[in-house]
Amino acid sequence: MKTGSRVAVIGAGWAGLSAAVELAAKGALVTIFEAAPEIGGRARSLAWAVKSPGGGLQDVEIDNGQHLLVGAYRDTLALVERLGGDESQLFWRIPFTLSSDRGLTIRASGASAPWHLVQGLWRAEGLTWADRISIARLGLTLKLRGWKTAPGLTVAQLLSGAQQTNAVQRRIWNPLCLAALNTPPNDACAASFSAVLRDTLGSFDARASDMLVPKVPLGATLPKLAEQFLGKTNGIIRRRHLVRSIQPGPTVDDEPFDGVVVALAARNARRLLGDAIPELPTESIQTLWLLLAPGVFEPRCLTLLEDGPGEWLFTRAEANGATLASVVISAAARTTDRDGLIEACIGQLEEVLSRLGRPARLDGDRVLGAKLIHESAATFSCRPGLRRPDVDALVGEWPSIMIAGDWTASEYPATLESAVRSGLKAARQLAQVL
Ligand SMILES: Cc1cc2nc3c(=O)[nH]c(=O)nc-3n(C[C@H](O)[C@H](O)[C@H](O)COP(=O)(O)OP(=O)(O)OC[C@H]3O[C@@H](n4cnc5c(N)ncnc54)[C@H](O)[C@@H]3O)c2cc1C
Repeated sequence: MKTGSRVAVIGAGWAGLSAAVELAAKGALVTIFEAAPEIGGRARSLAWAVKSPGGGLQDVEIDNGQHLLVGAYRDTLALVERLGGDESQLFWRIPFTLSSDRGLTIRASGASAPWHLVQGLWRAEGLTWADRISIARLGLTLKLRGWKTAPGLTVAQLLSGAQQTNAVQRRIWNPLCLAALNTPPNDACAASFSAVLRDTLGSFDARASDMLVPKVPLGATLPKLAEQFLGKTNGIIRRRHLVRSIQPGPTVDDEPFDGVVVALAARNARRLLGDAIPELPTESIQTLWLLLAPGVFEPRCLTLLEDGPGEWLFTRAEANGATLASVVISAAARTTDRDGLIEACIGQLEEVLSRLGRPARLDGDRVLGAKLIHESAATFSCRPGLRRPDVDALVGEWPSIMIAGDWTASEYPATLESAVRSGLKAARQLAQVL
C-alpha cells in the first residue's frame, strides 16, 4: 500500500476500529464514518443518569450490554496490548469458573492444561459422577474427532448424540451455548460451539479458558485506545455521519477514497451493498443494569443464575462505593414486558440473597437505579449452514472495497474476537490491493 493512501472505514464498532488501526499503522490516512454519537458499536459505553441518594443526578458509565471475553480472544487481547493497554487494569482475569446460585461450582485449578480442567471437574460441587463422566465424554469425543462435527448438526443434537445427562445439558452446556453463541441449543450450530470449546476448554494453554470481565466500561478499552492511536496517525472519526451510498470508484457519500472497509452489522451492510450481503437471522439480548447500595452483593460476582429469566449476574464496584450489577437475559428468554422483566429479575436476585443468608429485600433504598437495555438484533443467530462471506467477497465487482464484521466468514459466532479478526484481515487484504 502506498503511504498516505486515503481509506474510509464505515462503522466504528470493534471490527471497524481494528481495521482502522491496522490501516493507519501501515501508513494510510484513515477516515472513520460512524452513524452514532459514540464509537464502539454494539459494545459501546454510555452514560446513565441515576438519581443520587442526596437528590440530584449522578452519571454511571454502563455498556450497551454486559460483555465477557475469554483468554482465547488472542487477536483482541494482542491488539489492546499493541495499543498500549494494560490488560490487568482493564480486565479481571479469572481461571475458567462456572459457579451457580444453585450450588453448582466447577473451577479450573492452577495446573497446566488439561489437568486444570480434570482437577476442576474432579473437585466440582453439585454434580454426580455420571455428570462428570458425561462432560468428559463430550470433551474426549470432540477431541478425537478433531473438533469436527457433521454438517448441519445443532448443539442439541450434538449433546444428545454424546449421551449427556439431563442435568449436564440443562445446567452446563445450555447456558454455555447461550453465552457463547447467543442462540438456543435447538437452533445453534454445533460446529461453531465445538470451535469455541476447542479454543478454550480444549486448548493446550490453560490461559485460553480464562474468563476476562471488564473492570472498566468497555469504551475505555479498545475504542479509547484505538481513538488515541488514530489521533496520532492523522486519522479522523466522523461521528453522527450515517453513510447512505458507496460507489465502486470508490466513493463514500460522493467523497472519493483509494479504498473502503465496510464494517457494519450484516443488515446495515446489505442496505449499502445489496444482495451480495446475506440476510442473516438475528437474536436479542437484554441487559438489566442495577446500581445497588454498598454491600448488597460482593463486587466481582460472575454467577450463573439457573432458574431464569436472568441467566448471569455480574457485579463490579463503582467509585462511590455502590455496586454496579448487570443481569444478562439472552436469546432464550424473549419478552416485551419490560417492567415485568425487571421485577422478575429483581425477585430472582432477592432469592439469591436469601439463599446466601443475607438481607434479601431489594427495595428503593438498596436499588438506587434500574435500566433495561434491549438489543433486539444483538447478534446474528448462529445456526448451521449460514452463508458468511469472506472479507474480500466483493473484490470481483468492487476491487478496493472490503467487508468486515462479526458475521463475516469465521468458525466463531458473533463475538468481539470475530469482529476484531475480521477487521484486521480486511485491512491486510485491502493494503495488498492499494
Ligand atoms: C448486548 C450484547 C452482549 C454481547 N455480549 C458479548 C460477549 O459477552 N462477548 C462477546 O465476545 N461478544 C458479545 N456481544 C457481541 C459483540 O458485541 C459483537 O459481536 C461486536 O461488538 C460486533 O462488532 P462489529 O464491529 O462487527 O459490529 P457493530 O458493533 O455493530 O459496529 C457497526 C457500527 O456501524 C455503525 N453504523 C451502522 N450503519 C452505519 C452507516 N450507514 N454509516 C455509518 N455507521 C454505521 C453502527 O452505529 C456501529 O457503531 C454482545 C453483543 C450485544 C449487543
